[in-house]
Amino acid sequence: MSYLTDGLIYNQKGLNKELDCGDCNMCCKLPKINKTYFKDTIFQKDSFEWCKNCEIGVGCKVYKDRPKTCKDYECTFLCGFSFIRPNKAGFLITLEDINGINPLEAKVITIFCEDHKLSNLVKNIKKEHNLRYLIKQGFKFVIRTNKNNKDLWVYDPKISDELIKPSQKQVEDARELLNA
Ligand code: SF4
Ligand code: SF4
Repeated sequence: MSYLTDGLIYNQKGLNKELDCGDCNMCCKLPKINKTYFKDTIFQKDSFEWCKNCEIGVGCKVYKDRPKTCKDYECTFLCGFSFIRPNKAGFLITLEDINGINPLEAKVITIFCEDHKLSNLVKNIKKEHNLRYLIKQGFKFVIRTNKNNKDLWVYDPKISDELIKPSQKQVEDARELLNA
């Protein structure tokens, strides 16, 4: 069962908090975790790097006490926005603030995708109803494939149905815009 609002469809199970992570651990690897306190120590990790607390395929070994950053993480699958679990979709969607501008207003979505899954990314994006809807609304995607913020791809369906490797100048402009 799903719930429709403004053209977006939400998975009712997500809205009812009935979904679980299953065998997905993508958020414990792909995004960066900035410095945060955890058990009286400073905890941080780079993007595209497994968290030491993650038992791959099982879950977080310190789940009840996990850092606040992890508790606050809003997964698009668990909240019902994405219908495909990130490890099955092959990518993770995040909404990064752009100089304080809501990414939904800026119409830019950030996607974390491992390098070896890049060739299927556009096909997999189009499997998600809500992303297809956002594309029709003029959204584009910035793709991160590793911890190097300079090494970005762009998917802008208005320009091409292929991923675009932006020029160094475009990356610098985007980094300035993203404050990265
Ligand atoms: S990305 Fe979402 S579904 Fe996957 S482990 Fe993290 S919270 Fe769970
Ligand atoms: S502390 Fe737990 S929830 Fe947080 S990134 Fe590590 S394994 Fe994942």
